[in-house]
Amino acid sequence: MNKQQVNQLVSDFPLVQQLIDLKELAWFNPNITSLEEGLPYVSLNQDDVKDASDRLKRFAPYLCKAFPETAITNGIIESEVLAVPTMQKALSARYHTDITGKMLLKKDSHLPISGSIKARGGIYEVLKHAEGLAIEAGLLSVDDNYEKLYSDEFTQFFSQYSIAVGSTGNLGMSIGIMSAKLGFNVSVHMSADAREWKKNKLRSHGVNVVEYQSDYGVAVEKGREEAADDPKCFFIDDENSKNLFLGYSVAGERVKQQFADMNITVDSDHPLFVYLPCGVGGGPGGVAFGLKLAFGDNVHCLFAEPTHSPCMLLGVHTGLHDNIAVQDLGIDNITAADGLAVGRASGFVGRAMERLLDGYYTIEDQEMYNLLGLLSKAEDIQLEPSALAGMVGPIHVEQNVDYLNRMALTPEKRANATHLIWATGGGMVPAAEMEKYLATAQI
Ligand SMILES: *Cc1c(COP(=O)(O)O)cnc(C)c1O
Repeated sequence: MNKQQVNQLVSDFPLVQQLIDLKELAWFNPNITSLEEGLPYVSLNQDDVKDASDRLKRFAPYLCKAFPETAITNGIIESEVLAVPTMQKALSARYHTDITGKMLLKKDSHLPISGSIKARGGIYEVLKHAEGLAIEAGLLSVDDNYEKLYSDEFTQFFSQYSIAVGSTGNLGMSIGIMSAKLGFNVSVHMSADAREWKKNKLRSHGVNVVEYQSDYGVAVEKGREEAADDPKCFFIDDENSKNLFLGYSVAGERVKQQFADMNITVDSDHPLFVYLPCGVGGGPGGVAFGLKLAFGDNVHCLFAEPTHSPCMLLGVHTGLHDNIAVQDLGIDNITAADGLAVGRASGFVGRAMERLLDGYYTIEDQEMYNLLGLLSKAEDIQLEPSALAGMVGPIHVEQNVDYLNRMALTPEKRANATHLIWATGGGMVPAAEMEKYLATAQI
């Protein structure tokens, strides 16, 4: 994109100038539709989510064996929802804004196996691929007890095949650990910002870690190239994969069940707001899709991005989707938020979900650290910086009177609201790293 094109874009979309200036901002979607109107554009539906959910149930006996830490949930990889009232007060005070209703934290940060939201989509896609290969070879049928995959016979079988993926860290952890456990040869192509401890952890699981001095987009490209030369290599495409998306979307029905167990009502008088940190978009997009199917128009989803990597906001706001990258505007895509350092959003997710999302906002790295410190102090919960991007969501909602009026979110309704902060990662951060994160907080 040349200077003139950038100028034109700024004059068509003044908000783009604020993005270029790295300002924190919120944009509420003026083109939001009902679920009914928006659903056809997703090109996936409830049956697809059910298929994914059933597949995860088939694999549960295997996961129980292969990862004993999943045994307490019977091989279902799911995280806890918990109220964070002290943080809710601390946040209100910090921003001088009342957060009405109840604030909850969804602790995907502490999901088993890989300690991030990627334990949903990444693991699901590997399992789906493995199942397909085993069924095709006549070694498995969907009526079998999948515990049988936990055997030398299957490890041998999968060792003929390989899997490749490009990642800033967490996706690589999920796909690497899961693939290696099944017996696949797996290569994770890591961008320059990937943390050393994540690379080391992967190597300890027998994963081939390939390092690049460039960003996520390049790592993905290299992974794609490697796989293209090898018919037995499956490339997991974080930018376009519907399977990843569906793996994430199963979260919707799970949250619905958790809320039922906790006696939390969601209906037109009890709105649910969900705040999701966004990188390429598959994770938050898939989760939001599942939540929409579970709660319909009573759930309001917002995406959060770092000021240095606002790719989804940029793509959706301008309608250019994956035809524009933040670097085209001179934004550097450098952020401490693992998983969010993505310059170009998924075109699939942006186009599929743009009618169903209430809004998008950006947050500075330093503020993610500050909120990390605040949460640790208030609730003794430690997350990685990216997982804090969702935390300011309720403030944006409460402050945006135009949005609240337009959506008829009256004070009465808001008093009954549930604010669900999706904490996307951090459960496996080594103690010494966490100390550094905490020391960076200014609170
Ligand atoms: C990957 C990731 C996200 C965002 O998921 P995308 O699918 O890239 O949008 C958010 N938080 C953390 C910690 C992640 O690892």
